[in-house]
Amino acid sequence: MRVTRYFLPTLKETPSEAQIASHRLMLRAGMVHQEAAGIYSWLPLGFKVLKNIEQIVREEQNRAGAVEMLMPTIQPAELWRQSDRYDAYGKEMLRITDRHKREMLYGPTNEEMLTAIFRNFCKSYKELPKLLYHIQWKFRDEVRPRFGVMRGREFLMKDCYSFDIDERSARRSYNRMFIAYLNTFARMGLQAVPMRAETGPIGGDLSHEFIILAETGESAVYCHKDLVDMPPPGLDMDFEGDLQSLVDERTALYAATEDVHDKDAFMAVPEDKRLSARGIEVGQVFYFGTKYSEAMRASVTHPDGSDHPVHMGSYGVGVSRIAGAIIEASHDENGIVWPLAVAPFKMGIINLRQGDEATDAACERAHHELEAAGLEPLYDDSESRAGAKFSRMDLIGLPWQLIIGPRGLKEGTVELKERASGQRQSLSLDAGLNLLRSKCASSA
Ligand code: ATP
Ligand code: MG
Repeated sequence: MRVTRYFLPTLKETPSEAQIASHRLMLRAGMVHQEAAGIYSWLPLGFKVLKNIEQIVREEQNRAGAVEMLMPTIQPAELWRQSDRYDAYGKEMLRITDRHKREMLYGPTNEEMLTAIFRNFCKSYKELPKLLYHIQWKFRDEVRPRFGVMRGREFLMKDCYSFDIDERSARRSYNRMFIAYLNTFARMGLQAVPMRAETGPIGGDLSHEFIILAETGESAVYCHKDLVDMPPPGLDMDFEGDLQSLVDERTALYAATEDVHDKDAFMAVPEDKRLSARGIEVGQVFYFGTKYSEAMRASVTHPDGSDHPVHMGSYGVGVSRIAGAIIEASHDENGIVWPLAVAPFKMGIINLRQGDEATDAACERAHHELEAAGLEPLYDDSESRAGAKFSRMDLIGLPWQLIIGPRGLKEGTVELKERASGQRQSLSLDAGLNLLRSKCASSA
């Protein structure tokens, strides 16, 4: 992709409305544009990141055995009356009346809708267990939308719902999602700590929030330090094995959000291991038993012929919030530092002297060969000064920069810079292209 053809409205000035680094950098890097409080357009660069995050979430859901579908953003109020949440949800719910005066709403979550779908089609224990998810925009009329996409009103969420015959089986579904979440966040370069959490308006009795520690996080959290650098279970793990012991390993040590924080239990953690910090909630898992299935009469026939409400759980990931959370966790004074797996482009090509024949030719060749290798470089072929190109490339945070100019070319070299470490090396164009192919191919 050529910068001159792309849409990359980067800002030099720091926007005054942004209070935290990720919000500032998303605006400065031209990733998003605010349309109303907490409502954003995703400009091309931001949209690519959003899609990359979404795809990792999708792959890990699928690997855990969940099945993707798509439900609408607009829901009938009637569904929410059945679960008794229509009034309870309060002002956070955006209510809409259509031309026939029917009450509708912009969905803040989908427990009701999927319970109704399940009820309609699944009548027997033979259909169980089921894990169904979708990735869809939600709307919550937050009192204080802030921090850009981190606390939006319209936001993209992956929400999965599990249906099981009994509590034992439901816990297996819960464990699957729990492990899938650890792997999902690890693939994005995020260390997410599962912490005991309150179930809130979703209801139920078992829940964990997945928290990224960050000073600017909105939640106060308390945990054992060892949880912070525990490696993920690993992508090669099989979901049929003993998930319970993997989950036990993560939940044995103290970790709780403020709402369920138990001071005495925390004091029992050795002092040098006690961590009291702030964090960003990137996901939450719930087991809520038969709360919705009872209210909405979603029952299945058991082997003995009797009917019982199905046991359910729900599992959310804040896809759009994660774009901000990754930046919060990975940036420096010059801009964003994208982990390779979610980077909008894996590399940039910087032409130091647009119009110089040899430089243009080398850049064109690099652009062409990297594209042919499926690596999708972003080629800065603009007329901007070299300095402006360097700062823009640092700001948008692509993992690699291939820097090509007349002086180096005379000696047969180009420069390859790694954004994260700032390290630069001089090498031939061929060696540079080979190195990029090997560094970036595995996750292309
Ligand atoms: P919060 O406590 O931050 O308001 P929540 O607990 O109400 O979030 P859930 O119902 O658990 O949210 O939604 C699942 C995920 O969706 C959250 O873990 C979070 O990552 C994301 N999310 C929730 N609200 C927002 C929002 N206003 N903007 C962006 N992402 C959100
Ligand atoms: Mg939550």
